[in-house]
Amino acid sequence: MTDRQPDPPADVAQAAGMARSGAAQRTIAVVGDAWTLRILRSVFRGRRRHGEFVAEFGVSRAVLSDRLAKLVAHGVLERQALAGRHPEYRLSDRGLDLWSLFLAMWQWEMDWGTAKDPDTWAPDLPRPTLTHTTCGQAMRPALRCMACRAPVLPFDTRAEGGASEAALAQDGAAGSAFRKARGWAGEHPRRLSRIIGDRWNCAVVAAAFRGTRLFARFQQELQIGPTQLSDRLAELQELGILRARAYAGTRQEYRLTQAGIALFPMTLELVRWGNRWLAAGEDPLVVRHLPCGELLDARWHCGHCGETLARETVRFG
Ligand SMILES: [Zn+2]
Ligand SMILES: [Zn+2]
Repeated sequence: MTDRQPDPPADVAQAAGMARSGAAQRTIAVVGDAWTLRILRSVFRGRRRHGEFVAEFGVSRAVLSDRLAKLVAHGVLERQALAGRHPEYRLSDRGLDLWSLFLAMWQWEMDWGTAKDPDTWAPDLPRPTLTHTTCGQAMRPALRCMACRAPVLPFDTRAEGGASEAALAQDGAAGSAFRKARGWAGEHPRRLSRIIGDRWNCAVVAAAFRGTRLFARFQQELQIGPTQLSDRLAELQELGILRARAYAGTRQEYRLTQAGIALFPMTLELVRWGNRWLAAGEDPLVVRHLPCGELLDARWHCGHCGETLARETVRFG
């Protein structure tokens, strides 16, 4: 993966008030890598040691050591090495707080991932039910606004302060960290990683969520070169996230597919986690819920009994 788009000049970003926070992109720099996601999923399932990870998903020792070291460096995992025993890895508070991002990814995978495209971040994921242990029922989780309790829908929100999608794309440190992380020989890019792990793909999807549809508008909003934009639009179509349609004669417009629209809870989770754990001292990106006018605090609720879900009350199985 090469960097196909240089960062826009700083004054362009400053003028647009955008060069502040890249909450989603920071999160992606930490977790947006297929092996990292697999390791975290295993840890959430109670695995603790090298040998258990290798047995579960057949990762090489070198890749595993690299990813574990990064997760420890980012404060997501804690390493415990008792004398004479193999080291164990456990989730820190920061790591445990990724549970709802995983819930969002799990839901997308269930709906759009494995069955349609075997090249996903979790090809061995079974098709289990999700159980809310409080009510004891299998359920489908729903993301709701804590102020008005309405389900959070993609086009009912507006990002304010912090980063716009262009600022997310400009987060060079996060982008290069991710490119470095995915540069392993023999590691195929995975579908979710290709979407959330490429800063321009991420930016194009974010612009599409804001209603951008025409090539010239994407170009203008993202300050992206035409070749780079064409590449990303082609890739996102190939991934089944955008669809092109004829518009006003020879022009085309690009719209999110259902699979694309379904990425929305995940993008909110990326922003939430990045704001909470990685944006120290910076303006967080805030999102307003337009139906009630409040700043959005979106949380997952049980689709059966309606209660707010907590990590301890959700069982994947
Ligand atoms: Zn609301
Ligand atoms: Zn319930």
